[in-house]
Amino acid sequence: MSEHPTDAEAFGHSLSPYRVVIIGGGVSGALTAVHLLRQSRHCLSVVIVEPRQDIGLGLAYSTACDDHLLNVPAAGMSALAEEPEHFLDFARRHLKKVQPVDFLSRKFFGFYIRSLLAEVLENASEPDCSFTHVQDLVKDMERCGDVYKLSLAGGEDIIADTVVLALGNLPGRRPNWLHKLPLEDRHYIHDPWSRERWSQVQTAGADILIVGTGLTAVDKVLELTKDTRTGPQRIVAVSRHGLLPRAHLALPELNVPPLTLPENTALAALQYLKRQAGQKADWRLAVDGVRACTQEFWKHLPVLQKRSFLRHLQTYWDVHRHRMAPRIADYIKSLEGSGRLQVVAGRLEKMELSADGRRVDVLLAHRGGANFENLSVDLVVNCCGPQSTPRAIDCPFLTRLYERGMVVANDTNSGIKVDGLEVLDGAGHSSRNLYALGPLLKGELLESVAVPEIRVQAQDLARLICRRAGKN
Ligand SMILES: Cc1cc2nc3c(=O)[nH]c(=O)nc-3n(C[C@H](O)[C@H](O)[C@H](O)COP(=O)(O)OP(=O)(O)OC[C@H]3O[C@@H](n4cnc5c(N)ncnc54)[C@H](O)[C@@H]3O)c2cc1C
Repeated sequence: MSEHPTDAEAFGHSLSPYRVVIIGGGVSGALTAVHLLRQSRHCLSVVIVEPRQDIGLGLAYSTACDDHLLNVPAAGMSALAEEPEHFLDFARRHLKKVQPVDFLSRKFFGFYIRSLLAEVLENASEPDCSFTHVQDLVKDMERCGDVYKLSLAGGEDIIADTVVLALGNLPGRRPNWLHKLPLEDRHYIHDPWSRERWSQVQTAGADILIVGTGLTAVDKVLELTKDTRTGPQRIVAVSRHGLLPRAHLALPELNVPPLTLPENTALAALQYLKRQAGQKADWRLAVDGVRACTQEFWKHLPVLQKRSFLRHLQTYWDVHRHRMAPRIADYIKSLEGSGRLQVVAGRLEKMELSADGRRVDVLLAHRGGANFENLSVDLVVNCCGPQSTPRAIDCPFLTRLYERGMVVANDTNSGIKVDGLEVLDGAGHSSRNLYALGPLLKGELLESVAVPEIRVQAQDLARLICRRAGKN
């Protein structure tokens, strides 16, 4: 198989390759490519446009920190739905004594995805397929007759018969809570994943305010405190509810009996879940038990209830559903115990540079009371996590697609509207040959960000595309 795009002449026959362009090369993009290359019986050109150097890592798995662990036990992280032991087997070939209940590092999982893609490229049986990684960013896309024309930041244009949006976890715009503090202020880190930005700040002995208390915040606390010499003196993490992700059981249950959510009302589902949690040995068995039916339940929930769930219950759902590995949870607890980490529920009322310009003055209103607290910190870090509403995301490409009416916000105003995996346009029509998967579909499916859902979507999507390619 060629590693470069080929045209029909190169193969000595008149068949032109069917051109599939995947925008985004995280796990979603990589697994879509894997399945396309495994399933295709046609002359296919698969291109992934991804600015990162490596395909398959994306935001979650490009971390260099060994303490960033998967939040799912190894037994649940196979990239291939039809081979549930695939990751476990791979891990056992590369690491010592891996158990199904182990929480391995995200860095290792990234290595696994890269290895899987490399193996597929090496062993692909269809010689007329090609795979290319274009290391660039897509900034615009338009439909030209039957095809799409993609404009890249580097100036190049690419033509595609089919496009897959695998944009993943999207960053947010300037948050309102920043108040008077400029986005570029040297005391503020807007993108907590930017290694360059961290290299420009001094954290040793600092007082740090982290805005957000979810898994992104936990990641950053781990990184900041792992080396006591360079670590901060004190970290305050604040969010409206002040809830940290809950911990997994020390010995996670892997074979959780499935449950069925009863009716199409969020309240009935919640009551059912509470009842089940009370009857089981541990509440986690109830939360994990409804995983398989959540997408179906969500799809049939009336829009008003979805919105209400997202506004009032999502935070509570997320902290129970997306949990910390036991070791991480213990460590965070010890930091709280020692006073180095303080987790607060509250609202940021004021944030501005101190009079001497050396620190940031913050006024924090504690949740549920008239309690106010003045903080003076060296650094403020935005850990609010990925964004999905059109107004909040900072993704010029997706904004352009919204403006062009090529995508439309989902009814909950979170992510885009789809029919299955086919993207719907502003008029509600299925856009021919434009697909999406992963976090962009969170508003449509609720469960659409983690590997167990993405692996199924990638496989189904490849099947759809191969069928379409065969008709061309
Ligand atoms: C910190 C973190 C930890 C997580 N841990 C787990 C876990 O342990 N287990 C689990 O199952 N799930 C986990 N998740 C969920 C995670 O979302 C998925 O596992 C998975 O990484 C999503 O992959 P993705 O490819 O859809 O998105 P991403 O990983 O976000 O990748 C999207 C890619 O698209 C690229 N891109 C975006 N816009 C453009 C453009 N215009 N042009 C070209 N390229 C573009 C980006 O550069 C990026 O590399 C975690 C998520 C995060 C954020």
